[in-house]
Amino acid sequence: MPNLPNLTAAEPIPDAALEEVDRILRTGDLFRYTSDGSPVALLEAEFAQALGAKYALAVSSCSAALFLSLKALGLPRNAKVMIPAFTFAAVPSSVVHADCTPLLCECGNDYRIDLGDFEKKLPQVAAVIISHMRGHTSDMDAIMGLCDAADIPVIEDAAHSLGTTWDGRNIGTLGKVGCFSFQSYKLLNAGEGGILITDDEDLVARAVIMSGAYEHNWQKHPVLHDAFAAWQNKLPLYNLRLNTLSAALIRPQLEALQDRVTKGRRNHDHVAALLATCPWITVPNALPPEQRAPDSIQFNLHDMTDLQVDSFTDRAAAAGLNIQIFGRSKNNARAFWNWGFLDENPDQPKTRAMLKRACDVRLPARLSLDDCDLVAQTILDAIDATMEACVS
Ligand SMILES: *Cc1c(COP(=O)(O)O)cnc(C)c1O
Repeated sequence: MPNLPNLTAAEPIPDAALEEVDRILRTGDLFRYTSDGSPVALLEAEFAQALGAKYALAVSSCSAALFLSLKALGLPRNAKVMIPAFTFAAVPSSVVHADCTPLLCECGNDYRIDLGDFEKKLPQVAAVIISHMRGHTSDMDAIMGLCDAADIPVIEDAAHSLGTTWDGRNIGTLGKVGCFSFQSYKLLNAGEGGILITDDEDLVARAVIMSGAYEHNWQKHPVLHDAFAAWQNKLPLYNLRLNTLSAALIRPQLEALQDRVTKGRRNHDHVAALLATCPWITVPNALPPEQRAPDSIQFNLHDMTDLQVDSFTDRAAAAGLNIQIFGRSKNNARAFWNWGFLDENPDQPKTRAMLKRACDVRLPARLSLDDCDLVAQTILDAIDATMEACVS
């Protein structure tokens, strides 16, 4: 049987980036504000245009983008910010970092915000962060309707949703701010990096200054100079800038984005259809307005005991396939009960039940359909062997 593809390797950097990296290294022009026409400013303009947003600010990570978004909203100290109970630990961390308090919202078996719990908790919060975890878009019509009616700003954590659309609109442009990641396991790989987009001139001006545009460096941002003057010397500088090398790595990948989105969706849907034939597996569907851009697949096991679940992942691992179950792997950063840094962390029983059975497998866009067949077959074989062993 042919070997399983390497699922953990990141996307290689296109050759087109190498010449620019070489130029930057030879000039030492690594700081975004050293010269005009910085690759970071070009990336911001290109990214904003590609997504259909007015403004973009590139920073050192998506976590930094989330933190700056909260700071730029000017929330009072200890304000409550609602976040999904199913998200990456960086999200509650960014809220704590911004001197606010996370309030967790239950998520359902389809990995999305539980709207009943959301509506119930909304009156307590000053802002909302929606993590579209693993690219699964929560019902943004319902969420924006509730939040707009209550005048509560929404930050989209779109770290895993670059290229996803909702009713034809890009994810990250539905809320007041959208935040993306360039960490190696996201669709565009610079090792580290992030970017926020918004149409709000005043918000982006504050975020630009706080990101580290000290003195008059904001003049090197090719947009909206009027909004800056009012904030001169009035905001702390957190220095979360992106360096020019990282921007040079991302820019040519932006051109490859649509291709990666198309191939990622093809790979995901192919594996999803194969897994759907198994009686022990459910693969949640996309919501009707959602066009996904997945680079991984999630599916739920059901009618299996904890022992059977462990036996299944052990068998898959022995065959060379690492399957993460968010709520069973030790110290998993996406399991809310591991966020021991929170002052209050009440149980979220719905989300807990989902996390105990939700499997996660990377499916990078570069895989061929033959690779995808192998991945699906390895999963199905491991399930069959587990469930046969328990019948006999
Ligand atoms: C990766 C990720 C982040 C954090 O991104 P960094 O750039 O590593 O800070 C935040 N939210 C989600 C959903 C992520 O997947």
